[in-house]
Amino acid sequence: MDCSGEATDFWQTMLDKGSNGFVITPVEEPPSSNGMPAVTNLIPTELGFYDSPCLPPDAGVRSGYSGIYVCLEMQEVAKQYSNLELRFSTPAVQLVREGAGVTGVIVKNADGTYGRINAAKGVILATGGYDANPELMEAWTRPEDYATSSWRNPGWGTTGDGHLMGLKIGAQMDPCPQPVMNFRWGNPDSFFDARTWNAIYFGLMINPEGKRFVREDLPFQAVSNAQNAQPGYGAGCFQVFDENMMEGMDDAAIEEFKGRGWLFEGATPQELGQAAGIDGENLAATIERYNGFFAGGIDEDFNRDLATTMPFTGTRLFALTTNSCVLATGGGLTIDGDCRVLDVDDKVIEGLYAVGNASGNFFAGNYPRHIPGTSIGRAITFGYVAAEHAMKGE
Ligand SMILES: Cc1cc2nc3c(=O)[nH]c(=O)nc-3n(C[C@H](O)[C@H](O)[C@H](O)COP(=O)(O)OP(=O)(O)OC[C@H]3O[C@@H](n4cnc5c(N)ncnc54)[C@H](O)[C@@H]3O)c2cc1C
Repeated sequence: MDCSGEATDFWQTMLDKGSNGFVITPVEEPPSSNGMPAVTNLIPTELGFYDSPCLPPDAGVRSGYSGIYVCLEMQEVAKQYSNLELRFSTPAVQLVREGAGVTGVIVKNADGTYGRINAAKGVILATGGYDANPELMEAWTRPEDYATSSWRNPGWGTTGDGHLMGLKIGAQMDPCPQPVMNFRWGNPDSFFDARTWNAIYFGLMINPEGKRFVREDLPFQAVSNAQNAQPGYGAGCFQVFDENMMEGMDDAAIEEFKGRGWLFEGATPQELGQAAGIDGENLAATIERYNGFFAGGIDEDFNRDLATTMPFTGTRLFALTTNSCVLATGGGLTIDGDCRVLDVDDKVIEGLYAVGNASGNFFAGNYPRHIPGTSIGRAITFGYVAAEHAMKGE
């Protein structure tokens, strides 16, 4: 962690060699939508590209959401180095261990043949997590994380190859169940739909019994864990709101979500309960009690900050299917301070490094979403540390 500033400076130096003017800046205010503040108080660790003026006009995203463009920029910069070769569609499939150390890697070429790449300085496993590998999710994470990942998992490509290649040659790994990065906002086919922002922000989180079960404005991972603790690992949870709480979700979105079977509507809590499969009498009591808290300004059940939300005053009630979902896994191969992989006897496997989500001993229990950027930040920093050590041997 002491090297994160150095790593960021190095990254900026590399970006400066690109043609699009990407600039890394601290995120002073957490990003927000529709002018609303962030849902949770964040510790100001995040770096972003919000001041970069460089997205192509047809990108369709804000510069802060420009990760893919930063990657493309880095590809262009890499091409400036004659001693650096990028290979795509050439996954690593096996490490070559000769004696005490790793000396290369076997790859599968795009044409289906296999080849060997020798590594004089070392192999850095930067293959990410295993969130797109259902079998590993089931084996290595909690049942509730497996349940919600297989339902709404947005990941692809991250199938735990680095973990498996390391284990195959005797590497040590974090104990199971391993931590995941979960997110409170899942829809049945994505981790987040921006049109639901206000509804999520202002609404109540309700279980099938029609009851609240969590302070809705807690950091995401805390809400996720509470959702996962509900019956069916939270599969029957809803965000309940009225028409005054849902700016951004227009008639077309309402019809779309209803058509997909995610959104239900009723004129009364009982009617909504009937439509969505929620206990309507309990829901009525929950809303009445919650509304009553606004007079005194204190949420006596969960201590939610009522100054940043609103009571139910509308005539249309909605219930949106929502659940926790898994964005990434956080457990991996055991490394030392130089990102060198250790074997099961705590000895360094010479020539083998692991970084980012392929590496372990960093997160425990959960990913702390209120310290934003910790995941990409560690991937960047540890990648820098591993490469420095591999090149300099110290
Ligand atoms: C929707 C979403 C939002 C997120 N938001 C944030 C955020 O705001 N802040 C934050 O810090 N983190 C965030 N994360 C998490 C973060 O993106 C990841 O944890 C981080 O990218 C992990 O970096 P990595 O380099 O370890 O792996 P990855 O970025 O996953 O990269 C691994 C790469 O290795 C490739 N690969 C896999 N197997 C092989 C193989 N055998 N051979 C060769 N290549 C291989 C993969 O295709 C992939 O390109 C988010 C994740 C998601 C899904």
